[in-house]
Amino acid sequence: MDCIFCKIIAGEIPSNKAYEDDDILAFYDINPQTPVHILVIPKKHIASVDAVTPENSAVVAKIFETIPKIAAAAGLTNGYRVITNCGDDACQTVKHLHFHIIGGRKLPENMG
Ligand code: AMP
Ligand code: ZN
Repeated sequence: MDCIFCKIIAGEIPSNKAYEDDDILAFYDINPQTPVHILVIPKKHIASVDAVTPENSAVVAKIFETIPKIAAAAGLTNGYRVITNCGDDACQTVKHLHFHIIGGRKLPENMG
C-alpha cells in the first residue's frame, strides 16, 4: 500500500519520534503549524475517522489515553488542541488516521 505514514511506521521514511509503543507512533509534523505540532497515528492502517469500526476502535481509545502523556512530555503544560481532518472538505492529505496535537502558543478561537 502506498501510504506515507505506513512507510514511516516501517522505518522506510525517517521521522522525528515523540512517542512509540506496540500500537501507536507519534512524531513531529514535517511542516509545523504551531511551535509544537505532533502527529499521533495507529500502527495498523486506518484510512480516517470514517473507517473507525467496533473492530479497530480500541487503538483510538488508546491514542486518547496516551495523548496527555505525549503533550506533557512535549512541554504543553498550558493546553493544546487535538485535530483530525476527515475527507476532502477537511483537507485530509494523508489517508492514514492521524491526530494533530498543536500548541506552544495561544491558539485562535475560530476552528474553521
Ligand atoms: P492532514 O492534512 O490532516 O492529512 O495532515 C497531514 C500532515 O502530515 C500535514 O500536517 C503534513 O505536514 C504532515 N506530513 C506529511 N508528510 C510528513 C512526513 N514525512 N513527516 C512528518 N509529517 C508529515
Ligand atoms: Zn497507512
